[in-house]
Amino acid sequence: MSSAPHASPFDDWLAQDPEILGLIEREAERQSTTLQLIASENFTSQAVMAATGSVLTNKYAEGYPGRRYYGGNEVIDQVEDLARQRLMALFGAEHANVQPPSGSNANLAAYQALIKPGDTVLAMRLDHGGHLTHGSPASITSKIWRFVSYGVSPATGDPDAPGETIDFDQVADLARSERPALIVAGSTAYARTIDPVPFRQIADEVGARFLFDAAHPAGLIAGGAHPSPVGVADVVTFTTHKTLRGPRGGAILSSAEFAKAVDSAIFPGLQGGPMENAIAAKAVAFAEAARPEFSSYAAQVVANAKALATAVAAEGIRLVSGGTDNHQVLCDLQAFDADLTGKEAQEVLDAAGITCNRNTIPDDPRSPFVTSGLRLGTAAMTTTGMGETQMAVVGALIGRSLRQRNDEAALAAVRAEVAELCAAFPPYPSSAGA
Ligand SMILES: *Cc1c(COP(=O)(O)O)cnc(C)c1O
Repeated sequence: MSSAPHASPFDDWLAQDPEILGLIEREAERQSTTLQLIASENFTSQAVMAATGSVLTNKYAEGYPGRRYYGGNEVIDQVEDLARQRLMALFGAEHANVQPPSGSNANLAAYQALIKPGDTVLAMRLDHGGHLTHGSPASITSKIWRFVSYGVSPATGDPDAPGETIDFDQVADLARSERPALIVAGSTAYARTIDPVPFRQIADEVGARFLFDAAHPAGLIAGGAHPSPVGVADVVTFTTHKTLRGPRGGAILSSAEFAKAVDSAIFPGLQGGPMENAIAAKAVAFAEAARPEFSSYAAQVVANAKALATAVAAEGIRLVSGGTDNHQVLCDLQAFDADLTGKEAQEVLDAAGITCNRNTIPDDPRSPFVTSGLRLGTAAMTTTGMGETQMAVVGALIGRSLRQRNDEAALAAVRAEVAELCAAFPPYPSSAGA
């Protein structure tokens, strides 16, 4: 019936609500006709979407497999156990909790499991790439725990040693002076590999526990394109919807030592009934991530980020830390055009059909709402099959849009080229023309 690009089998069921169906179809159209360069987004498989939209959404299952507070959970228990088993196998972990509805909730639970209210936590500065849940004044985390933060080293201007990487001397100094109960590694805007080992050494030296927030690189870790923190950190949290390419959600891995504390921090600590439909979808994604093709995908995500970084640098945009090791490219716009803010660049690129987000750069002179940077990511477009050739084109289109940002016709021309490129790489090809 429907000619929407995603052509979901559920479309007919939604026909009774044409307003929402119409909006879903418009969003499907937007996702398939513009470039999705938001580093935290991806395209899940149709199998993941089918599980998300299943009858499992109807079931109450407070508790854990075999220990539920409601009857009728014999099938649900198998769903959640399968998700947990697949996840533990994927990362070689001793314990897994698949119930967190988001990465933020996973972090809240990890803090609860590892430390007491009022304890000191050493985490990454927000304006250097840390996440809101790493102690932002706006986040409840900063009201429950006392956060101290480390950052990246200054930019050097030397292409062979560009700086702007995690300053482990500072991490060690702060750990010694502040004696945190917990050290957090992980970032929302950092284009370099985060080695868990030096964090572990510093944590051991000062008797702190160690949480690795792998929200962004989880898929790269699963695919072997980033070192694994599992077995190094006490607890590893992550989102299932970024590079891991699953449904929107979170998960927690831990050593056996913290298994019980993690589980009770989630339920009853933070939530009631888990979203078993999302848990089934996570199980589907974990199985997909265990296939050899997923390792090729992870390697291609990184190759594409390197190609995109080279292409935007060729346009005169400075790369924070001089390049990338993962799926992210952090752009500093100041040298490209001193008047161009991250906010305006994001808006211009939106008009050109290129979706990304403004981002602070280390020691950004502008506010977090305006910023001097852009964050680009390659996880989503790599899923559609784009490779380094397309990334070179995308980088050039970004440069062209930003340079001709006051020329509406020029932006419309870029948008048309973007639509043509996207048409050649549909996110859901099997349903094209359905
Ligand atoms: C995305 C992210 C989170 C939170 O994930 P949500 O699902 O948006 O709550 C936590 N930590 C880091 C480092 C992230 O990048």
